[in-house]
Amino acid sequence: MTPYDDIAPRPSPVAAAPLVDGFGRTVSYLRLSVTDRCDLRCVYCMAEHMTFLPKAEVLTLEELDRIASAFVALGTRKIRLTGGEPLVRKGMMDLVRGLGRHLATGALKELTLTTNGTRLAEFAPDLAAAGVRRVNVSMDTLKPDLFRRLTRGGDLGKVQAGVAAAQAAGLSVKINAVALKDSNAAEIPELVRWAHERGCDLTLIETMPMGEVDADRTDEFLSLRDVRAELESFWTLEDLPLSTGGPARYVRVAETGGRLGFITPLSHNFCESCNRVRLTCTGTLHTCLGQEDATDLRAVIRAGATDAELAEAIRGGVDAKPKGHDFQIARKAPAVARHMSTTGG
Ligand code: SAM
Ligand code: SF4
Repeated sequence: MTPYDDIAPRPSPVAAAPLVDGFGRTVSYLRLSVTDRCDLRCVYCMAEHMTFLPKAEVLTLEELDRIASAFVALGTRKIRLTGGEPLVRKGMMDLVRGLGRHLATGALKELTLTTNGTRLAEFAPDLAAAGVRRVNVSMDTLKPDLFRRLTRGGDLGKVQAGVAAAQAAGLSVKINAVALKDSNAAEIPELVRWAHERGCDLTLIETMPMGEVDADRTDEFLSLRDVRAELESFWTLEDLPLSTGGPARYVRVAETGGRLGFITPLSHNFCESCNRVRLTCTGTLHTCLGQEDATDLRAVIRAGATDAELAEAIRGGVDAKPKGHDFQIARKAPAVARHMSTTGG
C-alpha cells in the first residue's frame, strides 16, 4: 500500500473545473445552431435569396453531438438547439435523442429548442419522448397575410397547429415575437392575450443588427421601453425577479395572469450576468452575440483532437469571452456581419 492509496482518484482537472471566463462568469448555457437553412425567410433575419453553406462546412450530427457533449462534461447545464430552423435538419431527432442521454444521467438539466413551429406538429411527440420539456416558438403576428409577408411565404396556420400539438404532447410553449414598428406594433396586446389564454409566456424581442438583410432595419426598430410604457397605460405589469442570465426581463400581466418578457439587447446592459455561449453549425464558438470573437472547434476536431484537447480549446475560447457587446441600431451597417440564422438566435 502506498501513502496515496486511500485518496480517492481525482477527476482530471480538464473535465472537473466549470467553464469560467476571464471576467469570472460561469458559462453553463450553450446555444447550438444545427443548420443555417430554414423553410422561412423572415425579413429581419434573412435576405430573400440566401446562399446557404456547402454541406461539408456544416458539422455532421456526430460532430454536433461530440462538441455539445464536451460542453456538458465541462459543466454546461442547458442546451438550446436553434438555427436556421432546427426541425428542417435531416436526422434532427437522432441528435435530440442522443443528447437526451445527458438528461437521463442528470448531467444536463435542460434540452430545449427554438423553432419557427412549421414542423412542430410532426415532431412534438418525439421531442417530448426524448426529454424535451419546453420549446420556444417564434410567431410575430396573428394575421395570416402579415405572417406571409414577414416570413416571405409562411403559413401561420401550421405554426398555430404546431403550438397546439406541442401543448398536447405536454411541452410548455413560450412564444417569441420580434417587435416591429410598422408591422405588428399595434397588435402586441392581442399577441399577449393570445399567448396567455393558452398558458404560454410571451417574449418580445427588439430587432438586432445582425447580418445584411434586404430592408433597412432601422425603419422597423421599435424600442421595448416604448412598448412597455404603452402596455402600462392599460395593464398592470408586475416586475418578476426571474433572471435567465440573458437579456430577458420578465413581468406578470395582472389582468391576464401570464408572463411577458422583454429582450432588449440594444437598450439594456445584461452582459455582466451573461452565462451563455453559441456554437454555429460550422463549429465556430462565439462567446458573445454582439462581437466577432470566434474559436474554430471544427478545425480542432477535424484535426483529430482528443477529448482533452477539445476541452482545452473550449476553455481557451471561453476564457476570451468579451466583457460586453457592441450593438448600436443607429449604424447602417450591421454590428456583426454574420446572420442570426448562422449564429443561432
Ligand atoms: N428558426 C427558429 C425561429 O425562428 O425560432 C430559430 C432560429 S431564429 C434565428 C431565433 C430567433 O431569433 C427568432 O425568435 C427570431 O425571431 C429571432 N431573430 C432573427 N433575426 C433577428 C434579428 N435581426 N433581431 C432580433 N431577433 C431576430
Ligand atoms: Fe428562419 Fe427563424 Fe430566421 Fe425566420 S427567424 S428566417 S424562421 S431562422
